[in-house]
Order: sequence, then structure tokens, then C-alpha cells
Amino acid sequence: MTSRMPSISKDIVERINLVVGNAPRPVPLHAPEFNGSEWEKVKDCLDTGWVSSVGRYVDEFEYKVAESCGTKFGVALVNGTAALQMALQVVGVKPGDEVLVPSLSFVATANAVVHLGAKPHFIDIDPDTLGLSPTALEEHLRQNCRAQNSALINKATGARISAVVPMHVFGHPASMRKIWQVAEEFGLHIVEDAAEALGSEYFGSPCGSLGHVAALSFNGNKTLTTGGGGAIVTNDATLATRAKHLSTTAKLPHQWEFVHDEVGYNFRMPNLNAALGCAQLEQLPERLLQKRALADKYFEAFKDLEDIEMFQEPANCKSNFWLNTLVLKTPDLEVRDDILRATNAAGLQCRPVWRALHTLEFFKSNPRSKLPATESFEKRLINVPSSAWLGAA
Ligand SMILES: *Cc1c(COP(=O)(O)O)cnc(C)c1O
Repeated sequence: MTSRMPSISKDIVERINLVVGNAPRPVPLHAPEFNGSEWEKVKDCLDTGWVSSVGRYVDEFEYKVAESCGTKFGVALVNGTAALQMALQVVGVKPGDEVLVPSLSFVATANAVVHLGAKPHFIDIDPDTLGLSPTALEEHLRQNCRAQNSALINKATGARISAVVPMHVFGHPASMRKIWQVAEEFGLHIVEDAAEALGSEYFGSPCGSLGHVAALSFNGNKTLTTGGGGAIVTNDATLATRAKHLSTTAKLPHQWEFVHDEVGYNFRMPNLNAALGCAQLEQLPERLLQKRALADKYFEAFKDLEDIEMFQEPANCKSNFWLNTLVLKTPDLEVRDDILRATNAAGLQCRPVWRALHTLEFFKSNPRSKLPATESFEKRLINVPSSAWLGAA
């Protein structure tokens, strides 16, 4: 094995070089692109003085984000982490609760749970989607939980389990139908972490419309960006109204009085960022086409390798291909790291998947299911340069 390592890495560098062509080096993993009316809309904010947390671009952005997710309501927020926190709070997660999250996710998924005073409870992933495994979820809940006064209780900790957070990894939709079945049986709310999945579809329905409420991110590395930003989308008017209220210091509407009816947050997205977002959303359809074209180039370039393949979109899904991903057939950190060294040295910015969350120091003693798929895939995934413009004809 060891003797074949250098040749594998060299081969991979050559294949990625073929895909990205003469793009200037280093080729970033994912760069923001501003090809539309960004300057014009941001300038309008500066010219009119509407730069902060109210303004017409905030309203327009909320409307358009909801539209692109096929939901009735959108609430623009400062970032995806805050959006997750708001989403969890409005579905009723309370301090002391446990929330089911995949262990293979960006740390924000679990951090948002902790910010509410609740505890992440880690569940294994499904090799076909890289997202939360409904089978692992169901088996784990059957064996380790009991019902009590219509609440689901973790037998080992005595804590209430109130919600589940499927995440669509790199834009590939999780198995939402089966996750719904399990969630309904056990009385769990579903908060979709759709931070990576703007524009992805599951059986024809957009990600973001597949749970009770969903969180999106518009950070600089995501498919579209507002600089920093996030949003909640939902079809539930009560959840949307409460999220907007809570994120706006829970202030009661009045012409001049400052009366607040609970402890709220300052989580609203500024108009300046929303202006960027409005311009970016206009480019979503074209960007999705470019990202799919880039994914096709990667599939073509990597189709005949024995030890490595590109991760395919799950059946009946349309992924946004936020990040294209190489999958090693077997978990081997030496091979993986050699590939990372070779590609990065060649000016091709590649990255491993996140450390499994249950292995992070501060989550080491959190409750969890068995995690065999997480522990295997943690060592097998490498993201390759995926900016949409690399797929432009
Ligand atoms: C980016 C991301 C977030 C958080 O978004 P921020 O806007 O960076 O706070 C949450 N979950 C996942 C899976 C993400 O990729």
C-alpha cells in the first residue's frame, strides 16, 4: 500500500488539474462570486442610509429566500449558527433537553444546541447520503429511550429528547422520508440544517422545505453569500413570527415605546448584507447549472479509479454540489493526508471532512448511538475545489 501512495496522489493532482484547467493557482476550495447587481444594491444602501437591521432589502431577501426554498416564510438572520439556534428555540427545545444531531457535521450544528442550554446527542450517518441515518436513529431510540407523558426520555440520562437535526452534507439531501417516519413515531420536531443545501432537491421538493423549520447559511464559503448571514425558512406562520420577534429583541411594536415581552436576541440581518443577498439570489439558477457541470467534469475525470471515487448525489435527489467530494474506498489516514499534502502543494485547495463531533474534547462525554459509518467516513472524505465558475462553459 505504502509504495503506491505517491503514485495515487500524483494521479489525483493530475486529474484535478484536468478539471480546473488554467484557473489561477492556488485554486480555492470555494470562493464567493459577485456577477450581478451587488454593487448597485449595496450602493443604494449607502446612498439612502439604510444600512442596518431594517430596510427594503431585508424584506425582499426574506421573501426571495422563502421562494427559493418553496416555503411560505423566511426570516433573515446574522448567520447560520444563530438561525439554527432560533429554529431550535421556536420548535420548543428547552435547556436540559437533548437534541439528536449527526456526528459528521460542521461544529455549528452542535454548538447551536449548546447555546440553548441543551445537549447534542450524536447519531450515525448513512453511507448513501453522508447525512443522518434513519435506521441508526430508529434502532438507537428503540433501544435507549422510553415514552413518558408524551415526551421521549433518554433512559440513561433521564433527559427529554425534543428534536432531531438532519444536515444535508455538502448539499446532498439526507433521507428525509424515513427520518420523518421515525420523527413522527417518536414525537420529535425536525430542524433541517440546510446551511449547505440551498437549491438542492429531494423528490422534487427543495431542501429547506423538508422539516418543521430549516436553517440556511450565507457565509462567504457557501453557494451564495451575504458576507455573513443566515435565515430561517418554514411554512409555519407561528414559528416564523416567533423567530422574527425573538431575533429582534422581542420588542413589541409601538411607535416610540421600548417594551419587550421576553429576553430576545439581536440576530437580525443588516440591510447591507441583505442587499448583497438579493443580488446573489438572482444568480442561483445559473450557479446551480455551473456547479452541476463542474460535478460532471469531476465524475468524468475520476470515473475509472480503483481506490477512490467521487461522491454521487443520492437517488431521487438533485444536489447543489456545494462541495465535490472524493471518497477513499478504505479508511486510511496516511493515504488521505498524502493526497491532501500533494494537492495543496500543487495549488489545489483540498480539505478533509470535519473531525467527527463526538471526538472533540468538549463533546467527548455526550450521549451517542453506535457510530461505525461516521468513524469510517471521517477518514475517507476529501473536498476538492468547487467554485461554480470552474464549471462555466
Ligand atoms: C456553514 C454551516 C453552518 C453555520 O453557518 P454560519 O453562517 O457559518 O454560522 C451550520 N451548519 C452547517 C452544516 C454549515 O455548513
